[in-house]
Amino acid sequence: MLFSSIPGLEETKSRLIQAVKNNHLAHALLFHGPEGAPNLTMALALATFLNCENPEPEDACGKCASCQKMGKLIHPDLNFCFPVPGAANEAEKEGAGKKTDVLSSWRDFVLSSPYSNVHDWIYHNGFEKKQLNISKGAARSIIQALSLKSFEGGFKIVLIWNPEYLNIAAANTLLKILEEPPEKTLFFMVCSQPEQLLTTILSRTQKVLIRAFTDQEIKDHIVEGGLCTAQAADQIAPLADGNLREAYRLIEQVVDENTAKFRDWMRNCFGLEIVQIIADADGFQAKDKEGQKALLLTGLNVLRESLLKRSQLDQLMRTPASDRMFVSDFALKAMTETKLFDLYQLLNEAHYHLERNANAKILFTDLSFSIAKVLRRKEEVLNPQN
Ligand SMILES: [Zn+2]
Repeated sequence: MLFSSIPGLEETKSRLIQAVKNNHLAHALLFHGPEGAPNLTMALALATFLNCENPEPEDACGKCASCQKMGKLIHPDLNFCFPVPGAANEAEKEGAGKKTDVLSSWRDFVLSSPYSNVHDWIYHNGFEKKQLNISKGAARSIIQALSLKSFEGGFKIVLIWNPEYLNIAAANTLLKILEEPPEKTLFFMVCSQPEQLLTTILSRTQKVLIRAFTDQEIKDHIVEGGLCTAQAADQIAPLADGNLREAYRLIEQVVDENTAKFRDWMRNCFGLEIVQIIADADGFQAKDKEGQKALLLTGLNVLRESLLKRSQLDQLMRTPASDRMFVSDFALKAMTETKLFDLYQLLNEAHYHLERNANAKILFTDLSFSIAKVLRRKEEVLNPQN
């Protein structure tokens, strides 16, 4: 992983590079940022840069033997630690074949989708219904690995992905080595919920805050990567809201269709077109879960944009030109602030329940009637722009 493969965040990259050049890098770093931000990729890029044999001023070379191995996540001085179910930990202790299986699964997972979260990891391995953690056994193997000399003469790096999953015994095992690590040894912890970390761990790390991507960074990245058209990127970037994982998922959805679908759905709810509402619910159910969630996210986005429109903050609106008319009419002719707020809550709750596997047809039918109730409520619609 190179710094150049991460879109944007130039300020973070150069801060890290400067710290290396000035010898100011702390031996335990906590890369933390929101989901879908380059928390993991930034840590991997720094690891690659540190051990590169011919580093360029702003990045690793990407060509030397070390970079090649880092690129495949098989560098012998790069040790990984990540949450696994209890049973896999047992296998780890016994040194059984399962350890290699889960490590190669980890490499596939990171290389194919470096912006993924723990749920994706669970899904990737079929770990559903299992309790994940980073065990004392795993912590012990780290210490053991660090007691050996560096294989290639560079930095020995331990990357702990989601240290929130360290159980107390494992954390206690690591405290001493975190405090006084062997020479040329670095700990990179990567997480999105630092508030869940044990304070004993937290206090021994230097924080590297990774911000979310900007809309522009996401847009450039997905267009330059040939993942979608510039027009689609205009719609995807604001919906992804800085989360590249979300952006990748949305690319697979047809977003421009979603705004039109949302518009028609709102009309059917307002007109209390029962037959249509049921047909809509059937249509929603036929989509996969990501598609259903994407539609709700589009709806939430329309509501957010409507609020901006009503607050005369047009300059903050991110709706592409093609959908402006609808949002503007919706905001000014059909909405009040209370109605917007109520709809926002309804869609948000529906999104929450979908995430937890509610039945889509029942959920969308109920939701449609609740929306109809809000839309048809008698409230004086004052156009704030008159
Ligand atoms: Zn290199």
